[in-house]
Order: sequence, then C-alpha cells, then structure tokens
Amino acid sequence: MDVHASLLSAVGETPLVRLNRVTARLSTPVYAKLEYVNPGGSVKDRAALSMVSAAEEAGLLAPGGTIVEGTSGNTGVGLAMVAAQRGYRCVFTLPDKTSAEKIAVLRAYGAEVVVCPSGLPLEHPDHVFNTAVRIAAERPGGWHANQYDNAANPAAHYRTTGPEIWRQTDGRITHLVAGVGTGGTLTGAGEYLREAAGGRVTVVGADPEASVYGGGDGRPYFVESIGHVLHPETVEDRWPESYRPEAVDRIERIGDRESLLTARRLAREEGLLVGGSAGTAVAAALRVAAEAGPDDLVVVVLPDSGRNYLSTVHDDAWLRHWGFLDGDGGGPVVGEAGSVPIGPRLRPADTVRQALDVLAGPSGARPGREGAALVTVAGTGRPVTGPDVVGSVTARRLREAVDSGAARPEDALSAHLAPAPPAFGVGEPAVEALRALDAARGEVALVLLDGHAHALVDRAALRAVVEGVPGTTAAGDRPEVPRTRPEPAHR
Ligand code: PMP
Repeated sequence: MDVHASLLSAVGETPLVRLNRVTARLSTPVYAKLEYVNPGGSVKDRAALSMVSAAEEAGLLAPGGTIVEGTSGNTGVGLAMVAAQRGYRCVFTLPDKTSAEKIAVLRAYGAEVVVCPSGLPLEHPDHVFNTAVRIAAERPGGWHANQYDNAANPAAHYRTTGPEIWRQTDGRITHLVAGVGTGGTLTGAGEYLREAAGGRVTVVGADPEASVYGGGDGRPYFVESIGHVLHPETVEDRWPESYRPEAVDRIERIGDRESLLTARRLAREEGLLVGGSAGTAVAAALRVAAEAGPDDLVVVVLPDSGRNYLSTVHDDAWLRHWGFLDGDGGGPVVGEAGSVPIGPRLRPADTVRQALDVLAGPSGARPGREGAALVTVAGTGRPVTGPDVVGSVTARRLREAVDSGAARPEDALSAHLAPAPPAFGVGEPAVEALRALDAARGEVALVLLDGHAHALVDRAALRAVVEGVPGTTAAGDRPEVPRTRPEPAHR
C-alpha cells in the first residue's frame, strides 16, 4: 500500500510548479514551491515537527506536557497538528492584528489562544514573546518552542526543503527566493543549496519595504508573518537566531501594494491561492528572474494558502478601503476629490502648549478651513498609517479649552483628543464616504493610499466630486493623489 503510517510523515515533499503567466515576458524559468500543500497548510509544518522532535530527544518535552509558542498562526497550526498526533496540550500567544481566520483555526485544533496587544516594544511584559515565556514557565511540563531562536527550525529546512529543491530541479537551481520571518526557511534551505551547488546558488530574501531586515525603518506594514518591525520604544533590537544574514546574498524590498497585488494575480492568473507573504516572495522572484539569464533557474517559496486571508488580501473591499485598489469604474472615487496635505503630526505625549506652537507655525496654519488644519496624532511617532492615528486636535478647540480652564498648557495632548477622522481609500466611492461623513457629523476624512494616511478631504470637496463639480478645496495646496498606480513590474 502507498500510505502514511502517521500524518506527520506526510509533511514535506511538496510540489515544485512552474509559473507560466505572471512570468510571460521572462526568459528565466521561475518555479514555485507549494508549501500550502503540507498537511497543516503551511511551510511551518516542517519547523514544528522538527522542533517538537528535537525537544523530545533532549528531554525538554515529555508525555502530559504543554507546547507554548508566540505565533502569528502557521507555526501554531503546525505545532497543534503535531501535538494532536503526539498527545500534548498547546497554548499560543499572538498579536491582536492576527486575522480572525487564523485564530479560529488554532481553536479548532483544540489549542488555547492568548491574544496580546500588538504594537508593544519587545521589552514590554505583555509582548507576545514575553507572554509565551511566562506561560511556559508557569505551566507544569510547559515547553517554549521559540521558533525564533530554536536551531531545529532552520535545521528542518536544511534537512528537507533544501534537498527537495535540489533533487526536484536536478541541481539546476541558481536562485532561491523566500520571505524572512524567523528566517528558518531561507537560512536552512539556502545554506543547504549553497553547499550542494558549491556556492553557485544565490540566496535572496524577500522583505517588506519597511522591515529592518532589508534596511527599512521598521514601521508597521500590511503583509503578515514576514519581515521585522521595530517599535520606536524598543531599546535594543534583537534579530532571531534562526535568521543568519551571512547565509543571504541579497534582499529585495517589496512595498505592500506590490506584495498584495501580486498575491491577487497569482490567484487570478496562475490559479495559486496564496497569502500576502507569497506575493512578496513572487514579486521579488520576478525581479530576480528579470535580471537573470535563460540558463538560470529561480525557485520561490510560497508559504501558505490564501484561504487564511479571504477577509484581507483577497477581499476587494478591504484592499480598496486601505487604498491598495483604484476605483471599480462605477463612479467618482475619494481620490478624485480635492484634498489637502495632512498637517503636522503630534504624539499623544506632547503637551497642549507644544501642539499650539506647532499649529501656529507655518506647517500648522492653513488658510480658511479649520477642518483641514486638523492634526493627526501618530501613536508611534512614525509616518501615520491608518491604525496609528489615535485622534485629532485643532488649534481652535485647544485654545478654547485652555481659555475655559478645561485644559492646561502643560497637559498631555492625549487628555484632549477628538476622535480620529474617518478614513477612506483612494478607490472607494466618493458617495459612500460622503454618506459616512454625514452620518458621523464629521467635517473631514483621511484619504488612505497604499495603507497610509495620505491626505485630508473635507465634506465640501466630496460633495463637489459626487455632484460632478471639479475639486474645490484649498487650491494650490493639494497633494497629488494618483488615481491609478503603475502595475508591479514584469506583468
Ligand atoms: N510566510 C508565512 C505566511 C509564514 O507564516 C511564515 C512564518 N512566520 C513565513 C512566511 C516566514 O517563514 P520563516 O519563519 O521560515 O522565515
């Protein structure tokens, strides 16, 4: 019989499939390693099995024990699957921005899920990692898998992923491309392939543009599970030991828009329903292939399925809300309304006096519309992204509060914030934004482009575009809100 004695022996040996349509103009073949075919649905099955087996061998995990891990989902599924087979309990800590589908899957395996606030510095006791360490220490028989620093994670890819790719390409691979989360996949498979090929394989990391691995400033981005975010209050940044930068030849930095739209194209043009990190990896692979020759062979790792992201990456309304999609051609969109640049950015800890000074300065003073002079307050002190806008203030309201004694100049701004303005993507219908603004009795809304607060638009400007009158707001003071963006390269 051609059978598996256990589900766990079905981990790995995933297919390597040539990309045909997204690579149409390229002479270099690009092959995708379909890791979502693993029984737990992702590349992390390999690391999970490897880490549990190593812990058992080292006597760190014994019958009746509890596996604890901080995971954004896929490592949890892999560990939960192995735990179910081998009779362990599991507890997972994950950030509150994790998609609802991923959390539901973990619970379906019988795992306990502890949701931690995202956006905390590494030192914070409630950080996902520290919470996992604490729970593992408190539970009898608790073991912290720690995929970030566990050598059995990259070892899984050195032992399985790398050799599979070598065998499947008959040793012809010249470039390996993969995203870097813990770094296990790229480091482990990359080191094996480099050795097997006598150094002839180029190892390329695919990284979100803002991630610090590739030299970004570490501000948040939309693609889940890869890259490295740096919180502004983190004192000492620590990279995972599973990631060995010396094993990587170069990093391709990919913006959120290119990653997300590439993931969509893979579903529509190749029939590959994959997650956002696969979009990042393929976008990087297409760049690599465009520079390579016809005798080269690129392999790109597709870590998980798009089914984990039906309410995000693969949802038009979600993409459009965050400003990643242009209009659907059905009528005027928010991006067509006359808008003004966002004023100066303040932080919640700034004082009322500081805010008034800033608002009185050249960048704060905006002729005419008090609404458009709004200041958005970024919680992280970085370029605002939608979720980071925690409130708003205007010079007029602050001055009134000081005059009436409701606010003191030395108060923190956080005590005197009005709600953040509602936000709409550039491609959302202007009529819907206007309706929502009317319902909220708001004067001004944020315009989101590529996931970032890009400009402010007021009710009059929205109404003008809905009624077909050309943009009317603060002439000469309008940022360019592109209505269409270039498609990712190499269509
Ligand atoms: N993509 C997805 C969807 C993942 O879950 C992970 C694992 N965090 C990665 C990419 C990155 O893999 P690795 O941890 O091996 O770097």
